Amino acid sequence: MAPHRGDEPLVVPAAWLAAERRRPGRCARHGAPASSWQDVALVTRPTTKGTPAQAGAVSIAARVAENAQNQRGVSLTGWPLCESCLAHRSRLRGTARALLFGGLAVALAAVVTFLALGEPQPLLGLPIVLGVAAVICSGFVFGRSGWNAVLSAEVTPDGQWVRFAQPHPAFATELAALGGPREGPR
Ligand SMILES: [Zn+2]
Repeated sequence: MAPHRGDEPLVVPAAWLAAERRRPGRCARHGAPASSWQDVALVTRPTTKGTPAQAGAVSIAARVAENAQNQRGVSLTGWPLCESCLAHRSRLRGTARALLFGGLAVALAAVVTFLALGEPQPLLGLPIVLGVAAVICSGFVFGRSGWNAVLSAEVTPDGQWVRFAQPHPAFATELAALGGPREGPR
């Protein structure tokens, strides 16, 4: 089932979401009946300053530290998830794992071969580069499998609101019936 797109974002008080025990019976993205209720955690979206070209290793490290400091999280117990949401998440996590361990194995095998041969082997540089690239890619894929991405939701920087960027109308209706959505920041 394709995720819903184009609806108005939905902002819900974080404290209400965290404390409320009743949940919609449908998932936020697809509006499909939930097949599983799981504890999920949403966080503030990392701020991206500067262009990728400016992002050297030092500035990336500084940004990671800054984001960790400013990050607000909200835990949602028993959150509704449909089959598509769960399949999407487990597919991405499987891909990330395969890239991580596959990349490490390829790079390690090349290093071990190089050490065993004891002399420079120009051809061994390629598997090392590919292995490292796969490990880096696994980090990006793993990020896409996070709850923020799966639910298309995030915590506002002040930590007061949860913003669903593309809520399915069926989900929005059920959440409104529970008294969740209010007028908040856009
Ligand atoms: Zn879903």
